[in-house]
Amino acid sequence: MSGLYLHIPFCKSRCHYCNFFSTLLAAPQRKAYTRTLCLEMEHRTGYLADSVLHTVYLGGGTPSLLSADELGQLFATMERLFHLAPQAEVTLEANPNDITADYVSLLADTPVNRISMGVQSFHDDTLRIIGRRHRAADVHRAVDLLSQRGYNISLDLIYGLPGQDLRAWSDDLREALSLPIHHLSAYALSYEEGTPLHRMLEQGLVKEADDETSLAMYERLIDRCEQAGLQQYEISNFARPGRHSRHNSSYWTDTPYLGVGAGAHSYDGDSRQWNPGDFEGYLRTQGDVEGHHFCEKELLTDSMKYNEAIMKGLRTRTGICLDHFRLRLGEEACRRLLASARPHLERHLLELSRDPAAHLRLTRKGLFVSDGIISDLFLTD
Ligand code: SF4
Repeated sequence: MSGLYLHIPFCKSRCHYCNFFSTLLAAPQRKAYTRTLCLEMEHRTGYLADSVLHTVYLGGGTPSLLSADELGQLFATMERLFHLAPQAEVTLEANPNDITADYVSLLADTPVNRISMGVQSFHDDTLRIIGRRHRAADVHRAVDLLSQRGYNISLDLIYGLPGQDLRAWSDDLREALSLPIHHLSAYALSYEEGTPLHRMLEQGLVKEADDETSLAMYERLIDRCEQAGLQQYEISNFARPGRHSRHNSSYWTDTPYLGVGAGAHSYDGDSRQWNPGDFEGYLRTQGDVEGHHFCEKELLTDSMKYNEAIMKGLRTRTGICLDHFRLRLGEEACRRLLASARPHLERHLLELSRDPAAHLRLTRKGLFVSDGIISDLFLTD
């Protein structure tokens, strides 16, 4: 199993909470970037031991800003260099107001079969405060167009937004879950330094949700998704049966992936590589016709692999498969993990499930304090 990630760092405008690198550059830069992505795919075809792609993910930024031509070039290159598995999941992240009837027709000529839309809220006044360029009506229209064509649809929401109380969050959940979607991701708002929203917080123009409210919102999320038939399969992710994000799941289950584009990470099981994060830096260091490819690389030590296995495994509702953990890291590592887990098992924050094989996983109570539990289990060098 292998996955391919293509990073598209373009946005039409900047959301006030976002600290990801993205650029507002226009068409000529997009064209140059697309060409460089294709070159990077050429140079790195051999990175994956298995050239059959089971998942492809175009993330950003806003990949739905790519023109038909640019999408065509990317997919033509990808299909020439790799084999796309027959049931491959191919996701495109989209802004709801890019999903027009014309855009959906254009997508029909590509292998894209899953759309992940950043919705964040169904309250237009909140969308304005956080600087989103779409409105709730755009989401309804987009979901309608996509579901008519049978796309696998995922929405992203954010909770703890400025001015949002538990009732407003429940309204957002009700509206999202009333739509014919297959997947929902929800994240707590984080006020990142350097963002306009962080400045508004410092100036006292907005107020951060307190811990109690955030916890109540997270509980409401889990309950409402469960009632609507979306199973929680990861801390922030919920899906109808069989509709979990196969691409994101592969990050948590140790599957190798190749990431191309500015700031994209790759993983081969033993090391992690990442490209320069800024647009110019990426264009400068990639696309050498000699096939040279520059990226940072870090070899994973045993303790890094141990910590990663814990962090990734406990994020999922299945948990850490102890057989797999033992096979990969050894009997001693497995014993050490179980010993450090004991206090949390006794407090019912972790549990051992035995079906079909032994897994160590967070209980529902443990989900709310997952960060603390995960770091407690880490090895420190
Ligand atoms: S569209 Fe996404 S990447 Fe672009 S500014 Fe908004 S949150 Fe950030």
